[in-house]
Amino acid sequence: MASENTRHSYNLALFESYLKDVRTGTASSMFSLLFITVISFQVVDSKLLSIWFALVLSTAAIKYFSYSFFKPDFDAQALAHFENWHHFSQALSGLAWGSACFFLLKTGELNVNESLVLNMLCVLVAYSAVVMSASSTGMLTFVTPIISCMMIYFAMDLAQYHWWFVATLLMAGASAIFGKTNKKHVLSQVENQLLNKRYIDELNRVKASVQKANLNLVRKNDALIIAQDRLKMLATNDELTQVFNRRHAMTYLAKVFAELERHPDDFVLALADIDHFKSINDRFGHPAGDQVLRGFSSTIKKQLRQVDTVARYGGEEFLIMLPKTKELEGRALIQRLCDKVADNTYQFNDQEVKVTASFGLAFYKVGDTVESLIERADQALYHAKKSGRNNVKTHYEADMAAYLASA
Ligand code: GH3
Ligand code: MG
Ligand code: MG
Repeated sequence: MASENTRHSYNLALFESYLKDVRTGTASSMFSLLFITVISFQVVDSKLLSIWFALVLSTAAIKYFSYSFFKPDFDAQALAHFENWHHFSQALSGLAWGSACFFLLKTGELNVNESLVLNMLCVLVAYSAVVMSASSTGMLTFVTPIISCMMIYFAMDLAQYHWWFVATLLMAGASAIFGKTNKKHVLSQVENQLLNKRYIDELNRVKASVQKANLNLVRKNDALIIAQDRLKMLATNDELTQVFNRRHAMTYLAKVFAELERHPDDFVLALADIDHFKSINDRFGHPAGDQVLRGFSSTIKKQLRQVDTVARYGGEEFLIMLPKTKELEGRALIQRLCDKVADNTYQFNDQEVKVTASFGLAFYKVGDTVESLIERADQALYHAKKSGRNNVKTHYEADMAAYLASA
């Protein structure tokens, strides 16, 4: 029982369209009959015509009311109810036709030939109309009362109408055989259509939920990529100054040196150190020192070319790496940086403060290692500090100074 209900507990919108067909079928059969009435106006007298007309209207009314009981969204019971009403209305219509014929024959308004032609037409219309031919049971419930009425009339005067009686008997047999062999049943057809529709609906629902899950996965993947980028950024960048950190600088230098060992080329490395930075912290506080570090980094970044790299080496020391740069060209660039840094003015406690930096330069030569190059840059920086700060010194100048000092 439960499965019966679930089988039908879906939207019966398709039945609405079926009902539309049924109504159209009924209306068209009624109009055909009215048409027959009109064309037979000349041969049928007015009394017969009015009975005929009343029959057509009453049949239409019976059908209209029986179908108006059916509404979409019905369950299995309502479906069975509709089927019963459908057959009941067919039987009523058939009985109306059959008894009218019987009455007309009895009163002599129709002769047997006319009556048979009338009923044949009626049955033909019944067979051809969607409403009846769609369901064999529906059709039989219509045809059987008509045939029965005719058979009763012929049976009442068997001596005169024995052949007619046999004919109607044969017709009843033919109808029964037709009804048995005609497996076409509109309700089961529509039911199948509805089942298909339900499967398609279910399929669409599953498809929608898969699409939704997929969208969630895409969103999660995007979030992962963003988190991954951020992690990468955190791993390679210095949080305070937003230039590369020391780890990244060393990885970068290792790669550059691997390439330089195979293909020696110009490469300039500068070590920068902010002058008297400790006193900034001491005079204006640590946050002021941080601000200077950020300002210094930003100035350097702005001045460098795309191929150059700057990294915070530690504290207030920075590494500046200039690939494929000649010595003079490198020196000029770093001097420009030194001047720009010195041009900057910082505002602390309503006081305008200037900050300078010293730069030590080392030029790559064959046989250098990362450590040896940094060491030479450090010596050059030391020399720059000793030479009064806010200047740029190369390792050549540092070597010369050391030589002169030892001489
Ligand atoms: P010199 O001209 O010889 O380089 O003098 P200096 O004062 O700059 O040199 P020193 O190395 O003595 O001082 C560096 C100071 O930088 C010491 C340390 O407190 C400060 N420092 C290091 N990292 C940070 C930081 O992240 N923020 C701030 N505000 N200060 C820092
Ligand atoms: Mg220092
Ligand atoms: Mg310093």
